[in-house]
Amino acid sequence: MTLLERSLAAVWHPCTQMKQHETLPLIPIVRGEGPWLYAEDGSRYLDAVSSWWVNLFGHCNAHINQRLREQLERLEHVILAGFTHEPVVRLSEELAALTGHALGHAFYASDGASATEIALKMSMHYWRNSGQTEKTRFVSLAGSYHGETVGALAVTDIALFRESYAPLVRAAATVPSPDARQAQPGETARAVALRAAAALEGWLAEHHRETAALIVEPLVQCATGMAMYDPEYLRQARALCDKYGVHLIADEIAVGCGRTGSFFACESAGIWPDFLCLSKGISGGYLPLSLVLTTDQVYQAFYADEVTRGFLHSHSYTGNPLACTAALATLEIFRDGKVIERNKERASWLAQAADLLAEHPAVRHLRQQGMILAFDAEGASPGFAQRFHQAALAEGILLRPIGNTIYWMPPYVLTQKQCQYLGVQTLQALSKALS
Ligand SMILES: *Cc1c(COP(=O)(O)O)cnc(C)c1O
Repeated sequence: MTLLERSLAAVWHPCTQMKQHETLPLIPIVRGEGPWLYAEDGSRYLDAVSSWWVNLFGHCNAHINQRLREQLERLEHVILAGFTHEPVVRLSEELAALTGHALGHAFYASDGASATEIALKMSMHYWRNSGQTEKTRFVSLAGSYHGETVGALAVTDIALFRESYAPLVRAAATVPSPDARQAQPGETARAVALRAAAALEGWLAEHHRETAALIVEPLVQCATGMAMYDPEYLRQARALCDKYGVHLIADEIAVGCGRTGSFFACESAGIWPDFLCLSKGISGGYLPLSLVLTTDQVYQAFYADEVTRGFLHSHSYTGNPLACTAALATLEIFRDGKVIERNKERASWLAQAADLLAEHPAVRHLRQQGMILAFDAEGASPGFAQRFHQAALAEGILLRPIGNTIYWMPPYVLTQKQCQYLGVQTLQALSKALS
């Protein structure tokens, strides 16, 4: 049997209707190098989605590899209850410093959905420890995505997931998204943000007593189709949460780690949330790692003699030393490589490469936020995403549209030439997929 046949027989692939693989090939990847993925048959693909938004500095990055080898010879894992180790301490310190110590306490898990659930649990438990036991509900934005475990689905507003598992989920409320595509002719993105903020205020005024937290994806709601919005919404949301005594949770699982231009997306709005979730890029795309950063005020509300006032959440791989080491190596590259600075130029190369696309008659809402560039294909018929994905593979690029939204979310290693290649090949794939 080929690797492909063995995979279909034994592996249940994620986000996949397995029957489709009767006709669509699975691609066995044998090697990665920089932004390239090399397949068994010798073909290669430019990884323009960073392998589901996780890879920041290319595949098989020499620096991260070296740091992991060193750590591997020292300590691979140790229980984090009752024990500690250098990588988890240093990572927590460095992340706290990156928030200017506004968020000085780090709690760890392995996947993004768990980080969401930790933030939800911590928020509710904070209010309970503070005597406000009625604050047990959450509110999220229309089209929000915060993960797919049962708890995280409660704040995920993607119809397909919500409807399929509705009987298991205690769904949160949703308020209008500040998605700038909703602008009326002549209306600015900021005006749309203010409109959405007014709706949030209306909702909070009525429901703040039973509401623990508002959870948002700062600047870009990625999974719903790269809905981008004005940072003014975050400033308004911060002020409204303060006014009504509701926590603000920033899910920076996709938009953190430099993706939108600053290290944390919240920085562009000049605010800090009460909880900030990180995962995906934090380990450079090497190992599963997620974490929630929070304030001293939250931490202190749990600091007591009674066990029941402590935060009740544990995970066997909490703070895994190898994953933390990959994250520390990632932060070293950010510092030593002046990545945030250099990405400004790289983002402009993406914009230039997209000029080609802007002229295509089907391209709508061409938009960019740092290292995310997206557009919507107008007039695409059903099955477009799958057709485009296949057409792009034939052009040597890995892209997975979300519905009719095509996006680039590449690792921070693309050269100007590779950006141009991405533009040219995307245009080819678009023409093929629309015909
Ligand atoms: C991917 C993602 C998650 C879930 O992370 P997993 O590691 O896939 O569980 C949560 N929130 C956002 C914004 C994401 O993009």
